[in-house]
Amino acid sequence: MDNPAPAAILGGMDETRDILIVGGGLNGPALALALAQAGLSVTVIDALPEKARRAADFDGRAYALALASVRLLRAIGVWDRVGDDAQPILQIKVSDGRAGEGPSPFFLQFDHGEIEEGPMGHMVEDRFLRCALLDAMKAEAGIARVTGTVESREIEPGGAILTLASGRRLAGRLVVGCDGRASATAARAGIARTGWSYGQTALVASLAHERPHGGVAHQFFMPPGPLAILPLPGNVSSIVWSEDAATAAGFAALDDADFMSVLRPRFGDFLGDIRLCGRRYTYPLGLSIANRLVADRVALVGDAAHGMHPIAGQGLNAGLRDVGALTQVILDAARRGEDFAAADVLARYQRWRRFDTATLAAATDLANRLFSNDNPLLRLGRNLGLGAVNALPALRRGLIREAAGLTGDLPELMRG
Ligand SMILES: Cc1cc2nc3c(=O)[nH]c(=O)nc-3n(C[C@H](O)[C@H](O)[C@H](O)COP(=O)(O)OP(=O)(O)OC[C@H]3O[C@@H](n4cnc5c(N)ncnc54)[C@H](O)[C@@H]3O)c2cc1C
Repeated sequence: MDNPAPAAILGGMDETRDILIVGGGLNGPALALALAQAGLSVTVIDALPEKARRAADFDGRAYALALASVRLLRAIGVWDRVGDDAQPILQIKVSDGRAGEGPSPFFLQFDHGEIEEGPMGHMVEDRFLRCALLDAMKAEAGIARVTGTVESREIEPGGAILTLASGRRLAGRLVVGCDGRASATAARAGIARTGWSYGQTALVASLAHERPHGGVAHQFFMPPGPLAILPLPGNVSSIVWSEDAATAAGFAALDDADFMSVLRPRFGDFLGDIRLCGRRYTYPLGLSIANRLVADRVALVGDAAHGMHPIAGQGLNAGLRDVGALTQVILDAARRGEDFAAADVLARYQRWRRFDTATLAAATDLANRLFSNDNPLLRLGRNLGLGAVNALPALRRGLIREAAGLTGDLPELMRG
C-alpha cells in the first residue's frame, strides 16, 4: 500500500506517526509488524526495557498457537524465526479425573489427521516467541520502539498525543491499546471493564520426561481446576496447573522436591519419570473484558480487550485475530482514502471482533465452572458428554476446526 496522506502536525509536534501502540508484549509487536509492512509508520511504547523482556526467564508460559495464528505469524515474517523451536500439536486428549485416580475412561480425543490442513496448532515457548517478535520489529524500518510508561492522553483534531512519565510527548493518528488486561489505555478512553477473579492461580513449569509425548496435548480436568500437559520439542512438556489460589500459594512455596511429590499423583506416570526444568511461575486467573473495543481515536487489541481463563489456550489466539482484523480494517480504509481512525472505521473493527471475543470469554468462563468442581452429577454429565462427542466424528471435526482457529470470519492474514 502507498503511504497514506501525511497527517496534520498535531499540537506543534515535530512528527505525527500513523499509529501509536501502547504495549510491546506479544500482540503489540504483531500488530506493529502487520501495519508497518503495509507502509504505515508505527511507534510501539512499552513500560519495560527491551532487555528485561528478552530475559530467558521473563515469562514461563508456552502458548498453544492455533493454525490460524501460525498463518498470521508466517505472513508477518515471525514464524520463520520461531518455527524451529515449535512443537506441532498432533492430538488433544481431554479427560476428567481426580488426584491419584488417573484420567476417567471417558476421554475426548482430537487428531490432526481429521482435518486436511495439517497440525491444528503448535506449542511455542514465550521466550522464543517474544524475542522473535522483538527481532522482527527491530528489522522493520517503519517501526520505532520507545521505552516509557504512558501517563496521559489528549485528543486533538486528527489524532492523539500521549505523554510519557519522562515528559516525552508522542503524536499519532490512532492509539491502539495492547497494554494487557489492566489496560490504562482503555481506562483513559473511558472504557469500563466487566470481570472477576476466579480465585484460582495457574502454576506453570516445564518438565522433562522419560518417554516421548508424541505431540499429544492433554487437558486433565481436576475438581480445583484443569491440569494441561502440553508438548514442547524433545521429551519436554509445559504444564498449566490451575488450583484454588490458597492451595496454589502453598504449592508454589514448596521446594522443588516437595512440589514434584504433590504434582506426580496428578500428572500420572504415562510419560515415565518426570523432573522439573528451570523455574516455576504463578499466574492469578481472572476474567477482564472491555465493554467496548473502540473510543475516540482509540482501539483495543489482545488482553486489553479480553483477558480470559487459559482453560482453552485461546487468549493469545483471540488477540492475534484482533491483530488480523484491525489491520484489515485500517488498510481497507486507507486504500479507500478514508481517515482510518474515524469513528465509523473503528466501529467496523468492533463489529467484527466484539461478539466473537465476548462469546469466547463466556465459553471459557462456563467451561471453568463446569469442569472445576467435584459435583458427582456434573462429573457424570461431563464424562458422558465427553464420551458422546468423541463418538460423533462430524462434531469432533467441527471442534478440531474451531481449535485450529479456522471457523468464523477469518482475517486475510489468517487465511494462509
Ligand atoms: C497460564 C496462562 C497460559 C496461557 N496459555 C495460552 C495458550 O496456550 N494459548 C493462547 O492463545 N493464550 C494463552 N494465554 C493467554 C496469553 O498469555 C495472553 O493472551 C497474552 O499474553 C496477551 O498478550 P498481550 O500482548 O495482549 O498483553 P501483555 O502480554 O499483558 O502485554 C502488555 C504489555 O503492555 C505493557 N504496558 C502496560 N501498561 C503500560 C503503559 N502504561 N505504558 C507502556 N506500556 C505498558 C506491559 O509492559 C506489557 O509488555 C495464557 C495465559 C495464561 C495466564
